[in-house]
Amino acid sequence: MGPMLAGRVAFVTGAGSGIGRSTAIRYAEEGADVAVLDVNGAAAADTAAAVEALGRSAVALRADVSRAAEVEGAVRQTLAALGPVDILVNNAGLLRDATIRNLSEADWDLVLDVHLKGTFLCTKAVAAGMRERGRGGAIVNISSISAKIGNFGQANYASAKAGIVALTKVTAREYAKYGVRANAIQPGMIETPMTRALGEERLARNAAETPLGRLGRPEEVAAVALFLASDLSSFVTGAVIEVTGGRYL
Ligand code: NAP
Repeated sequence: MGPMLAGRVAFVTGAGSGIGRSTAIRYAEEGADVAVLDVNGAAAADTAAAVEALGRSAVALRADVSRAAEVEGAVRQTLAALGPVDILVNNAGLLRDATIRNLSEADWDLVLDVHLKGTFLCTKAVAAGMRERGRGGAIVNISSISAKIGNFGQANYASAKAGIVALTKVTAREYAKYGVRANAIQPGMIETPMTRALGEERLARNAAETPLGRLGRPEEVAAVALFLASDLSSFVTGAVIEVTGGRYL
């Protein structure tokens, strides 16, 4: 089997770090050129350099996914630098955990804006091009197992991630006739800068509660994101795949 994404262009948000960075690199290993978007411009440039080191083309884009004008600008820059987008990965995200009693309106809005509105804005901007071009496409949305279980202290995050599941299903229905598939991944606890901040004790407890007995690695989410972006999943759309090591079955 040759490279799975040869000749394709991927647009990955939050690709400066963690799961997004691993996904950008995994896609490049399979022959894709990659638009690397992150609100942290230096981190985006670093991932873009890693993509180029694999012999692929990349463009680093500093943008906030929750701002329509910035998203539209990033998509235009991608078109100019790499050509039309075949694969979109909506991965950018952040945490502002607090119990409902302590959760501020600002932190509710921020988390909903980045995850849910950001996924909507990027889908709207990228899927328009996929539809016009008529050559199909794949959209991979990063939800979270928190959406399924309603994690304590994550009213904003779990709600946004559950919203992303519904948005994925709507996208799958609306774009199926254009050959565009949309699917979601629900990771469990994955070792990234986002989760490292939670502290050793909580991570150890998580690993102990996981049937596979450990935390996941970003590469293990990227592998599923590769499956969903590639032709291996040509009859899969509107699906939600858990990548949790068996936690919260
Ligand atoms: P990460 O290492 O913190 O990477 C997320 C990246 O997104 C960061 O570079 C971050 O920049 C960027 N970002 C934040 N806000 C943005 C915005 N408005 N526009 C563009 N980029 C933005 O986190 P991760 O663990 O890889 O998480 C990636 C995705 O997986 C997130 O959607 C997360 O919710 C989801 N997820 C992660 C886990 C896990 O266990 N790690 C589990 C389930 C789901 P800054 O660092 O500058 O904020």
